Amino acid sequence: MEKSREINGAYRGRFAPSPTGPLHFGSLVTALGSYLDARSHQGEWLVRMEDLDRTREVEGAADWILNALERFGFEWNGTVIYQSQRTQAYEAALETLMRKGQAYPCICSRNEIAMTAQTGKEGPIYPGTCRRGIERSDTAQSIRLLTQHREIAYTDRIQGRIRQNPSLEIGDFIIRRRDGFYAYQLAVVVDDAWQEINQVVRGSDLLMSTPRQRYLQQLLALPTPDYAHIPLAVDGEGRKLSKQYRDAPVDINRPIDSLLQALSFLGQPLPAERPDNLSEFWRWAIRHWSVESIPAKQALPVQPPAC
Ligand code: GLU
Repeated sequence: MEKSREINGAYRGRFAPSPTGPLHFGSLVTALGSYLDARSHQGEWLVRMEDLDRTREVEGAADWILNALERFGFEWNGTVIYQSQRTQAYEAALETLMRKGQAYPCICSRNEIAMTAQTGKEGPIYPGTCRRGIERSDTAQSIRLLTQHREIAYTDRIQGRIRQNPSLEIGDFIIRRRDGFYAYQLAVVVDDAWQEINQVVRGSDLLMSTPRQRYLQQLLALPTPDYAHIPLAVDGEGRKLSKQYRDAPVDINRPIDSLLQALSFLGQPLPAERPDNLSEFWRWAIRHWSVESIPAKQALPVQPPAC
């Protein structure tokens, strides 16, 4: 499988959790993968709280996540950025797209779309109903990005060659929701560029979002980072471990055990003896990190801990 080139120059990575619940095993794996990749390249690692969608936010979750990261011994560079404070930047990007005729208002309800749309891998493929203008301007509007008929292809550092034609496979997608919240796809692109992130390591549930993000980067003339999508941690039934479904949070009182389990999930070698303390764990894990050893799979079941 074709893998992307060596990393040259200063590395800047990030971890971007959504504060929808405490840190669970799946997000620990993502945090660990992005951190080890950054630190093994002498890179910087930033934390960004993706708290845009206030309807999904769980009170106290952001602080819980940051506290858990600290207890695990993650050290981030600079201050934590909160997307809820970045509305003006998203507004500016949206205005640019509207001005260039690359985005348009949409008044279709979810039900209307469901009745006419075909279903793609990522849900209903918007059939472009409002492309030619909307009849009523008194209804709540979302803003959609006008997708052009062309393929976006890139080489993921773990998953290999990825291709997608967003206009066929996704349809014109929402960049601002009808309730006024900016969509993840727009915010992530604006913030990755603003924070000068050049390496994105994250879960494979976002693999199919990457072409949309690369497309937006092109339209907004923003630099494009490299991407590495690690396998998603799933349970025995293939269900994503997620904060919303209240999967067991990681035990912050036994950080080394959870970190070793996450390291093993990522296909990394484990030390012959259990590290005595966190600094010993981090020294080992950074020195032995190899992105090539991560299984090139989009999902992997989590093995229960040995003890
Ligand atoms: N906030 C997203 C999540 O928690 C991650 C976004 C990203 O890494 O691009 O799933």
